[in-house]
Amino acid sequence: MTHKVDVPQVVPLSDILPQEPLLLMGAGPVPIPHAVAQANGVVINHLGATMNRVVDRVKLMGQYVFQTRSEKIFGVSGPSSATMEMAMTNLLWPGRKVLVLKIGTFSARFGEMAEGIGATCRYLVPEGLQPVTAAMVKEVLDQEHFDVVTTVQGETSCGIQNTELPEIARIVKEHGALMVVDAVCTLTTMPLYMDEWQLDVVVTGGQKGLSSIPGVSLIAFSSDAWKVVESRPAKCPHWCLDARRALNFWDKHNYHYTAPVSGILAIHEALRLICEETLEARIHRHTVSSLALQAGIEAMGLHLFIPKAYRLNSVVAIDIPDGVDGNAVRNYMADTFHVEISGAFGLNIIRIGQMGEQCRSYNLFRTLHAMGMSFKQFGLDVNVSKGMSMMEECLVRDERHSVE
Ligand SMILES: *Cc1c(COP(=O)(O)O)cnc(C)c1O
Repeated sequence: MTHKVDVPQVVPLSDILPQEPLLLMGAGPVPIPHAVAQANGVVINHLGATMNRVVDRVKLMGQYVFQTRSEKIFGVSGPSSATMEMAMTNLLWPGRKVLVLKIGTFSARFGEMAEGIGATCRYLVPEGLQPVTAAMVKEVLDQEHFDVVTTVQGETSCGIQNTELPEIARIVKEHGALMVVDAVCTLTTMPLYMDEWQLDVVVTGGQKGLSSIPGVSLIAFSSDAWKVVESRPAKCPHWCLDARRALNFWDKHNYHYTAPVSGILAIHEALRLICEETLEARIHRHTVSSLALQAGIEAMGLHLFIPKAYRLNSVVAIDIPDGVDGNAVRNYMADTFHVEISGAFGLNIIRIGQMGEQCRSYNLFRTLHAMGMSFKQFGLDVNVSKGMSMMEECLVRDERHSVE
């Protein structure tokens, strides 16, 4: 037999990866703790007593991070977007109506998915770069019935926080709709109380707030949402994302598809570390870290993109000053300082992540210094030492020193 496609020239991975990995300080993925990395290197059988124990623990710890007593918690083999798709695909079908609260790329994604399913989709878009208010949602829902309302807690693409989320959810429930929330960049970085706020579906990914690996994500359904899942008249168009089929594995310990065992082990460790730290301490660490970073950036002479009143702490967006090439600055930062931050989807900003392991003082100092020196390299008059000392002051001011 002659092979028609020749053997390609192979190179070991070490020839591809940089000698020193870049410090991931962008909008995700984020650095992972050693225990998570180790767990990710293990493969076990996806069925059987050992895996069952792991699954049960992941669900239990999932209840803590989502702050819910719901048993309908699933790991999903796929990116965060797969959990968004699981929510949309199980709650919607042609004839159902969804209101998409859109403030940027990710909140809009729910709408793209709903349209693909054939549901009727309407967008509520605030003017300019603003969060959605409860009053805006009430006005629409008073006029027209929707089955589902979707939004993000934090819009990673531009750094806006939906500050009125609890009030929005209350109005949505009062109007008999289901509230679906993307907490991908925010879960465990800021407060979210699924049961107390009456959220019906909450989704999150591995590679952001949880500081796990990308590719295994979590989703939780409320009992109201689950009633719809169970009683839907139409078949679920996605076999892998069918929540009722997922129950086979996540509740009954039977086969659905071969679970991403390594990723589930990794997320187990990520969740365990969150439980050990406690949500209270973790959220405090994130807040202190992000506010110190923001103060440092401003003291350096740069401007933050979003006003303080609804600025997201999990992903901080910074204006690129006129005449500066943001991509050139980021490339210089990566090449010279081995620190990577994010650009944006069409906006003239750069973004620094403040999720999970990114919120450690040793990562903060390295990042702020690298960014300041890189802007300087391209002719911008920034005061790097002033920024660094302001950040240090803010961190030291916090008596609990919980950023370490
Ligand atoms: C990153 C992100 C997503 C998409 O995550 P993927 O893992 O790339 O699918 C969705 N929503 C928010 C808020 C995000 O930050």
